[in-house]
Amino acid sequence: MAKWVYMFTEGNATMRNLLGGKGANLAEMTNLGLPVPQGFTITTEACTQYYEDGRSINDEIMAQIMEAITKMEGVTGKKFGDKENPLLVSVRSGARASMPGMMDTILNLGLNEEVVNTLAEKSGNERWAWDCYRRFIQMYSDVVMEVGKKYFEELIDEMKTKRGVKQDVELTAADLHELADQFKAEYKSKIGSDFPTDPKEQLVGAIKAVFRSWDNPRANVYRRDNDIPYSWGTAVNVQMMAFGNMGDDCGTGVAFTRDPATGANGLFGEFLTNAQGEDVVAGVRTPMHISEMEQKFPEAFVQFKQVCETLEKHYRDMQDMEFTVEHGKLYMLQTRNGKRTAQAALKIACDLVDEGMRTEEEAVAMIDPRNLDTLLHPQFDAAALKAATPMGKGLGASPGAACGKIVFSAEDAVEWAARGEKVVLVRLETSPEDITGMKAAQGILTVRGGMTSHAAVVARGMGSCCVSGCGDIAMDEENKKFTLAGKEFHEGDAISIDGTTGNIYDGLIPTVDAKIAGEFGRIMGWADKYRTMKVRTNADTPADAKKARELGAEGIGLCRTEHMFFEGNRIDAFREMICSETVEEREAALAKILPEQQGDFEKLYEALEGNPVTIRFLDPPLHEFVPTEEEDIKKLADAQGKTVEQIKTIIASLHEFNPMMGHRGCRLAVTYPEIAKMQTSAVIRAAINVKKNHPDWNIKPEIMIPLVGDIKELKYVKKFVVETADAEIKAAGSDLEYEVGTMIEIPRAALTADDIAKEADFFCFGTNDLTQMTYGFSRDDAGKFLNAYYDAKIFENDPFAKLDQVGVGKLMKMAIQLGKPVNPKLHVGICGEHGGDPSSVEFCNEIGLDYVSCSPFRVPIARLAAAQAAI
Ligand code: PEP
Ligand code: MG
Repeated sequence: MAKWVYMFTEGNATMRNLLGGKGANLAEMTNLGLPVPQGFTITTEACTQYYEDGRSINDEIMAQIMEAITKMEGVTGKKFGDKENPLLVSVRSGARASMPGMMDTILNLGLNEEVVNTLAEKSGNERWAWDCYRRFIQMYSDVVMEVGKKYFEELIDEMKTKRGVKQDVELTAADLHELADQFKAEYKSKIGSDFPTDPKEQLVGAIKAVFRSWDNPRANVYRRDNDIPYSWGTAVNVQMMAFGNMGDDCGTGVAFTRDPATGANGLFGEFLTNAQGEDVVAGVRTPMHISEMEQKFPEAFVQFKQVCETLEKHYRDMQDMEFTVEHGKLYMLQTRNGKRTAQAALKIACDLVDEGMRTEEEAVAMIDPRNLDTLLHPQFDAAALKAATPMGKGLGASPGAACGKIVFSAEDAVEWAARGEKVVLVRLETSPEDITGMKAAQGILTVRGGMTSHAAVVARGMGSCCVSGCGDIAMDEENKKFTLAGKEFHEGDAISIDGTTGNIYDGLIPTVDAKIAGEFGRIMGWADKYRTMKVRTNADTPADAKKARELGAEGIGLCRTEHMFFEGNRIDAFREMICSETVEEREAALAKILPEQQGDFEKLYEALEGNPVTIRFLDPPLHEFVPTEEEDIKKLADAQGKTVEQIKTIIASLHEFNPMMGHRGCRLAVTYPEIAKMQTSAVIRAAINVKKNHPDWNIKPEIMIPLVGDIKELKYVKKFVVETADAEIKAAGSDLEYEVGTMIEIPRAALTADDIAKEADFFCFGTNDLTQMTYGFSRDDAGKFLNAYYDAKIFENDPFAKLDQVGVGKLMKMAIQLGKPVNPKLHVGICGEHGGDPSSVEFCNEIGLDYVSCSPFRVPIARLAAAQAAI
């Protein structure tokens, strides 16, 4: 019989896949002899089984849960529903990878009217007992039965108004008792039955709710963003409650062993007296700094510090812990490797190496490559920042610089961002439902909440700038306005926030690009030491190439030559070329283009300092470049000595029903060889010129022919490329060498790679087109239906962002296996978007690619991912 349930004493940290992170660590802390309220973990496999059984808990699992309850009652000496010593539990989710705030939690489970009375009597604290009960009804109704939170909050507000008080803590035991009654009545009116009184029934409901929450929309979004497979499922932890809300000698807190924002070594966290965990995390009350715990609970604080040290040494990583103090006694509720900003991650990794806790390889492996992205984003311009005066200050909850227009809701953030506006989301507090809005915004500013509030945790995870807890803001969310420093701000007004200092500025402060230095540089240095695969860049302009070099690119893997015509009035000659009707006309237009192309290529070679440069010949459907405005059509007609009508006829003739499969790629070179000849001349002349100035550089142009599906296409185009190149080299009296290769981006090219390798010096996988044509999904239109695919669980990721290793990957493997034996010198890379996606980079390393090529800002990400793949 499968084992579905483990007592904390039966597990350990290595059982993360089965017990989830929280469950495995609760077991590990138990093994370490730390003060952990005891309980049990229902496995992730039970969650998967729950879904397989049509969202129900089968008899075998149920029997094991009931058995675990009995054992737990034995260990704790308390019993569910007991009149003497009742057991209350928390029920929490815990996946393999932590997903803070994404799934559900239920506290104080096991309460009913009788138990409340027992607790009140035993503890001599009637107020506390009723407070627990009203919290439980509220949470259970919301999480398990999905009765909206707001109904209960309205009742609390009404009660506070009736009693003339402002804070929840000012309500008396009698008030809370009355509220509990009102809550139960609300429950009955919404659900149609009485609130459950049997603790076991409550427990089963809660466990199901946690399993169910694995599939809630925000968890699905989080998983997609963080590459967490749906198939993993969540475990459920049932743990004896420890009470932080039993009086002023009780409290609860969240702490990190190092600062999650900066990485500085030292205890960092927050604490609230007379409160339960949710109060800290939800940001409802702004908590005090952890150091203040020393005065309030000196003994528990000393013990807590020891626990922190033990855990950090044990896990050899920064820990994020939740704990409770009940009547001065410390209880550990959770520990995990803490989420951190990219900046903090780099500092912590370097510090752990310096402290002798980690090796360089381990430090490299600790950094999530995707997080580096935030460090590469602009920071405020130092001079402009110095000149600016902050108008307010909150907590610097997640570093970075953000400026944009104010919006007041997550929906608005999404909508405004979709139409290209940069926005800052300003909220009273955020909740997990706001995640898509938080993602769309440049930054997040909240009125309430501390460093561990939802907004702060989620923003750090996403690498978004966040300033939280600016209590000086007088917020009027309903009317979309707030007042700060005596000024009223409305939707659309400009604001800037600094997630490092917490400063808030009126207006837009300009930003500048980031640099790789300090710890970032150190980690990248280690990454380069351990990786074997090269990283190139996709760069079309000298400026992109220069940026990419700064970020560590070791070559250009793709220069899309068509992109070189977007600037200035270059498009004019390009349009003349497209709208030519004879070879002579076309050659005349090409003669104008040649020097411009040559100049660009020279700058690319200069920027790359002798590193390889792959230049891809013209690829796109020509009609993308034809003029649409009357004025431009007239201009073109005049230049060509044609009538407007003639030009319009040519434009109409270029129309295609399916341009992505139309007249593009090497098909252009087949129909108009003069285009490819011009490009060859430009590539070779540029290389010869730069080589003259830099004889020590190894300049060897790589000419890449796109969209080849048949060896004969490549042969045909290659013939005149080689003839042109050789003639240019001969005329210049040069000894320049060059290569001619092809993209593998049509499935047929992969299937016949043994043929193609006979003619190609290199292969470069164009996985954008290869994905498009393998799935038959238009890369321009897939966005329209992919969301439905996610909802239906057909896809977990966008195959245009994360490589489909099963299908597209199989074609890649096949092409390498077929191509290399035929041409052992063949070098192979990838230049589709996947070249900058960490999991795809890992796959590319595995199948033996020589390099990946990605956009300049993803070069450091690819360098790190390549190192992790090699370690
Ligand atoms: C590709 O198809 O993957 C590729 C890199 O080429 P493009 O995106 O320009 O079609
Ligand atoms: Mg392509």
